Amino acid sequence: MIVILKQNPNQEQLNSLITWLQEKGIIIHSSIGEAHTILGLVGDTSKLDIDLIAALDIVEDVKRVQEPYKNANRKFHPEDTVVKVGNTQIGGGTLTIMAGPCSVESEEQVVAIAKAVKASGATMLRGGAFKPRTSPYSFQGLGALGLEYLKVARQETGLPIVTELMDLSQLPLFKDVDVIQIGARNMQNFDLLKAVGHQDKPVMIKRGMSATYEEWLMSAEYVMAGGNENVILCERGIRTFETQTRNTLDLAAIPVMKKLTHLPIIIDPSHATGKSWLVDPLAMGAVATGADGLQIEVHNDPARALCDGPQSLKPEDFDPLAKKLLNLHKMIRTLED
Ligand code: PEP
Ligand code: MN
Repeated sequence: MIVILKQNPNQEQLNSLITWLQEKGIIIHSSIGEAHTILGLVGDTSKLDIDLIAALDIVEDVKRVQEPYKNANRKFHPEDTVVKVGNTQIGGGTLTIMAGPCSVESEEQVVAIAKAVKASGATMLRGGAFKPRTSPYSFQGLGALGLEYLKVARQETGLPIVTELMDLSQLPLFKDVDVIQIGARNMQNFDLLKAVGHQDKPVMIKRGMSATYEEWLMSAEYVMAGGNENVILCERGIRTFETQTRNTLDLAAIPVMKKLTHLPIIIDPSHATGKSWLVDPLAMGAVATGADGLQIEVHNDPARALCDGPQSLKPEDFDPLAKKLLNLHKMIRTLED
């Protein structure tokens, strides 16, 4: 971190800043120029409040030269993280396909969809039991019962389950879930992130709809700082001025995240677009751009779905897509070899 001081800084204030930094274990290299004095701070600056320092009377500007995330940073962990889930894995050159309904609606529904997506090549079953809905009058999910139905579907198919945790109070119910999903709306629910950081189940963090890459990585950092290294990122579209699609899928997030972090990245083209016909081209684009996997909503009767029907694929449309995605992934890997 570099602190640029104003001209002729008050010596007393400067001494107190230097003492305060040294007490935090920071080593200071100062360079005195004609116009400005610059302090180079060396050590663990991740815990320093940049805004607090910038607000001091004697400070002109503060610049970070190192990212505030350490555990998630590729610089300190060059090899890709591979997250083990049941007898499958996320990352490490595999293509994970998470598929299933937006919401678990009944045992028959989720079991039938699980069987269909498994036959098409899906490697995990997704399904919401606790649903974050914009309207309190919309279907809120089956809650604990939904989790039970997901477990039945896992039993029937062997597919590990990924499902959203919305609130701290629900955590004890998630003991038998394979991957805990933190939804876009909860990406900065820091208490929730801390709680899932203190247990060892894999956690998939969906990008908040207005979150920067750094904010998203800081959410991953919250989980990792608690000791849980099994973190997966999921880009699901961000809010832009465009209204034709539900969100705007940021495919650049894939190469950018690959550069900044060692964590695997999943793309969710369903929530990104809100339209089932856009899922195919964007899923293909995601694989071509280097995603570690996809999360795709599949419903046996989208017209009657209790949530997100317009963006859900029918199993018969998911089937050729899943095959295309696996083929494209294989092809890309041979090109890269
Ligand atoms: C979901 O996956 O069902 C969901 C609500 O996603 P998001 O948090 O990305 O909106
Ligand atoms: Mn949904």
